[in-house]
Amino acid sequence: GDEYSGYRRVLLKLGGEMFGGGSVGVDPDVVGTVASQIADVVADGVEVAVVIGGGNFFRGAELQQRGMERARGDYMSMLGTVMNCLALQDFLEREHEIDTRVMSAITMGQVAEPYIPRRAMRHLEKGRVVIFGAGTGMPYFSTDTAAAQRALEIGAEVVLMAKGVDGVYTADPKTTPSAERFESITHREVLERGLKVADSTAFSLCMDNHMRILVFNLLEEGNIARAAGGARIGTLVST
Ligand code: UDP
Repeated sequence: GDEYSGYRRVLLKLGGEMFGGGSVGVDPDVVGTVASQIADVVADGVEVAVVIGGGNFFRGAELQQRGMERARGDYMSMLGTVMNCLALQDFLEREHEIDTRVMSAITMGQVAEPYIPRRAMRHLEKGRVVIFGAGTGMPYFSTDTAAAQRALEIGAEVVLMAKGVDGVYTADPKTTPSAERFESITHREVLERGLKVADSTAFSLCMDNHMRILVFNLLEEGNIARAAGGARIGTLVST
């Protein structure tokens, strides 16, 4: 069913740019705010897995434009996502005393567990927040794709896609003031209208496997808990 109801297990996707607060690196104020919102969701009894982007450090495609090999740039970007994961882990554990595990798609045993799906699910069952780092571990992919894949594999009911806008619009609301927001829309209609919710690999993975995506505004205080609680915010993309 596509009805809104509180979720049991969610996959929260956070863009990296937001972690940087508009510049390169991490902005502890932003990370702290996100951590306290996640703590509210955990307190509500929802199992939370997180995928964080790396746009606040590097993007492989951008490094490529400046002369680097694409795959190497992508690996650099994936390493950047792990720094974001560690920052979030730090705030969750020290400010909110929430057990947190970072699981990396690229092995780096000193700072993160390797991504082992069944272990990830076990952590979630125990109420731990699981933060997936290093995307899919594969160049040419994105953290949106990692989010879709991890959500599917761990049995999350929805991808909560936190953005700087409050949903999917008929057109870009920044340039088209008359643009209207969808409360809900199907994956197919997103494609037919040429709208953008995630990159095409991530989006088709969700469409083919009936994974719901809730696009919502991260910048509004309390929205992560609202989204996880099944509130009618943002835009729900479902089949
Ligand atoms: N990346 C990759 N494979 C992955 C995930 C990420 O190669 O599975 C690289 C890619 O260069 C990407 C960058 O890491 O541009 C950062 O991820 P993304 O662009 O998804 O971050 P966001 O836009 O969410 O901050």
